[in-house]
Amino acid sequence: MSESEREFTIKSYLDFLAEKKLMGSKCKDCGLMYVPVRKLCPKCNTANMEWVKMSGIGKLAAFTSITVGTPFFVEKGYGRNKPYCFSVIKLDEGPMISGQLIGVDESKPETINIGMPVKATFIETDIKGETRVDLGFEPK
Ligand SMILES: [Zn+2]
Repeated sequence: MSESEREFTIKSYLDFLAEKKLMGSKCKDCGLMYVPVRKLCPKCNTANMEWVKMSGIGKLAAFTSITVGTPFFVEKGYGRNKPYCFSVIKLDEGPMISGQLIGVDESKPETINIGMPVKATFIETDIKGETRVDLGFEPK
């Protein structure tokens, strides 16, 4: 199926992520972009959407340093002695999106600055022979 024919669903969004593409939906009427995708524009109440590839460039809006992680992160070796950062990013195109923040010193949150420029990256994890791809961010 060609990219433009995919349905505007979370499943399609995640399929794109697995292909290392950060895609959003753009309302053809008002130009607002949505990540993850929306089928309907809440502003215009229309389904006049198109897929757009996001730049992945944005700014750190918020983050938290996590020492008691989900099983997925515990499995990856994160924990009390090795925290990981989960962040909220405001993309240059407008939408806010969350993901793991890497390339920073997680044990020194005071060195991580709100507003710093970041770019999207794709974090691969091998789980039982299969590769999982997660959206992450790193300093730009
Ligand atoms: Zn709209």
